[in-house]
Amino acid sequence: MKLIRWGEPGAEKPAVLAMNGEGQEEAYDLSDLTLDITGDFLVAGGIAAVRDALKAGELPVVDVEGQRLGAPIARPSAIVCVGMNYAAHAAESGSEPPNVPIIFFKTPNTIAGPCDTAFIPRNSSKTDWEVELGVVIGQRATYLDSPRQATERIAGYLTANDLSERTFQLEDSGGQWSKGKCATGFSPLGPWLVPADDVDVNNLRLRSWVNGEPRQDSSTADMIFTVDFLIHHLSQYLTLEPGDVVLTGTPQGVALSGKYPYLKAGDTVEIEIEGLGRQRQTFVPA
Ligand code: ZN
Repeated sequence: MKLIRWGEPGAEKPAVLAMNGEGQEEAYDLSDLTLDITGDFLVAGGIAAVRDALKAGELPVVDVEGQRLGAPIARPSAIVCVGMNYAAHAAESGSEPPNVPIIFFKTPNTIAGPCDTAFIPRNSSKTDWEVELGVVIGQRATYLDSPRQATERIAGYLTANDLSERTFQLEDSGGQWSKGKCATGFSPLGPWLVPADDVDVNNLRLRSWVNGEPRQDSSTADMIFTVDFLIHHLSQYLTLEPGDVVLTGTPQGVALSGKYPYLKAGDTVEIEIEGLGRQRQTFVPA
């Protein structure tokens, strides 16, 4: 099943995509179960409640055809990002693969819907795409005992585009990347939040395209640090709250490599993770 939030920005409604009796995918309204898909919903066992309600046939069908989708999780307290978690991307960035996870932060107000209009920031000449596996935390994670325990704290996974401005990130930064990561709309999430039980997270194909031409094409199997390792590791340094999003790094094939031009107004970026859905953004000047 796939959790979605649909409707206008700031007024999204919760729904779930699941198979009906005829084997067709249908959208079901979750408004009777929850006002929104939030950390509070996840920590209260919301995913299990949705499964039970689907099984019982209690959820009304809702027509979301042609509707805007929002990010499938509302209001995380943090977006924690892992840098250079694919060896080939570290190499194309001119860096050695890291010995320990490198982290930086995106502000939660960078979140956008998966197909919302995206922005080239003012004074940008190096706006770049990054297809990335996003982890949504389901229960508070602090000082976890093991990577195995980390898996129990994960609610699900989503497709994320970690949009980046490389001059802001690397030259104007003073040494800390977040300046190049937090422009308006720089974190498109979704289209779906897929429960962790339904995903083989260590073997997902990730791809991106610019104006229909292929760019990134890799697999989460190529991560230096696996998802459970990352969540356990992060929990030794910070507390992850229900609903928080952890972005797990991007593979090779971004413009920073020098192989491709940076984005400009009018360009369209598509990114997709196997089983987690595809995004499509057209860029306009901020
Ligand atoms: Zn990234």
